[in-house]
Amino acid sequence: MDWDIVIGLEMHVQLNTETKAFCSCKVSYGDTPNTNVCPVCLGYPGSLPVLNKEMVNSAIKLGLVTHCHIRPHSTFARKNYFYPDLPKGYQISQYNDPICYGGYVDIHINGNSKRIGLTRIHMEEDAGKSMHSEGGTLVDLNRCGTPLLEIVSEPDMTSPEEAYAYLTKIKQIVRYTGVSDCNMEEGSIRCDANISLKPKGQKEFGTRTELKNMNSFRNIERALKYEVERQRAILESGESIIQQTLLWDEQSGQTKTMRTKEDSHDYRYFPEPDLSPVFVDKDWIESMQVTLPEFPDVRKQRFINDFNFSDEDAGVLTSEKEIADYFEAVLRYFNKPKLVLNWVRTEILRMLYETGKSISASPVSPEALARLLEYLDKNIITALTAKAVIDEMAASGKSAKTIIEEKGLEQISDTGKLETLIDSIFRENEALTRKLKEGETKLMGFFIGQVMRATKGQADQVLTRKLINKKLGL
Ligand SMILES: [Zn+2]
Repeated sequence: MDWDIVIGLEMHVQLNTETKAFCSCKVSYGDTPNTNVCPVCLGYPGSLPVLNKEMVNSAIKLGLVTHCHIRPHSTFARKNYFYPDLPKGYQISQYNDPICYGGYVDIHINGNSKRIGLTRIHMEEDAGKSMHSEGGTLVDLNRCGTPLLEIVSEPDMTSPEEAYAYLTKIKQIVRYTGVSDCNMEEGSIRCDANISLKPKGQKEFGTRTELKNMNSFRNIERALKYEVERQRAILESGESIIQQTLLWDEQSGQTKTMRTKEDSHDYRYFPEPDLSPVFVDKDWIESMQVTLPEFPDVRKQRFINDFNFSDEDAGVLTSEKEIADYFEAVLRYFNKPKLVLNWVRTEILRMLYETGKSISASPVSPEALARLLEYLDKNIITALTAKAVIDEMAASGKSAKTIIEEKGLEQISDTGKLETLIDSIFRENEALTRKLKEGETKLMGFFIGQVMRATKGQADQVLTRKLINKKLGL
């Protein structure tokens, strides 16, 4: 029997605001436990929350870039549950009227584009963190009250691969927007997945399970693949799926039951009486709109149109805002897009990979790269020399000009000098020279290589080839 897979995803994105959602405590990862706390985020009786406007700004920005409607009037609610890392006994969240709703993102998979609907994006606060060890459990409340956006998708994904593409897309968008650093290890982006199977073409959804506790996008994809097979086996044996929450166990590569429907929470949501509703008018939305950068898809298309780049090249450049910014900054000094593309894609990204630096902290600035490429473009240095120069620029911080002049790296285009060199190489390799003269043209590479070696890569290659041909009477 054929089955349709139905997947919906919920993502929590931790915002990089200075302070928490409802108090002025610092948002900071890795500080001494229980130091960034106050009566509000500790839930002391009588303390009152005050809304952080930056959280609303972030929600509006993310709503705008995901084509959501921004609700002019939204409210907060209390989500009640008891847990040791939640001293208030409830979480402030949004329930019936989330600030953003009805948006979408486009994902690209195997060359096709697909639109995934967004049900809602709402604001809420994070809980603290429990750290379990052998001696017992410790609680760190620094994270209590950290602002989050929860992004809920429509059940529009039909394969684990689509889920992976969606997650990657959301992360890219969030990073472009600048509202979160999306560091998965630090838990600033988290994801739960809902998945069910139904007979192919059937309208009603099957019973779903929820997957939790997945710490990387690849693990989410893996867990979903596992769950598809598990559910398929159960359904094909004629049994039914139990609605439950599952934990992904990375070690065994299996899902495990966390809780079933019977013990699922009733959160008893009710309106938060201590916070007034959020009113977002047109002016506020417009003031956020103007702060948004050009978006990845738009920028990618512009690179394809303006520079005639391939989809792949434009995709690499726009995969991160910083790379695209760097590329365009180089163009401002040196306007040869194809050459800049090649150097950013290969040398710059390789250098950053090797040094573990981000492109915004690149040891070779856009202007410095532009100056180097000018030398290459004017045939003053060879491509081989340029590659050595960029490494030295990164290591020493010197300019291309200084390095080229100090070391005398200019390309050798002196016909007389090169001819003398070629003659001596011919003499040293008599047998091969004879073969070359007899028409074994594949030896050409060897002779050019010898010239390059003798000149430490500085010989003008095009000229060298011409001169060798001339000597052969070609
Ligand atoms: Zn606080």
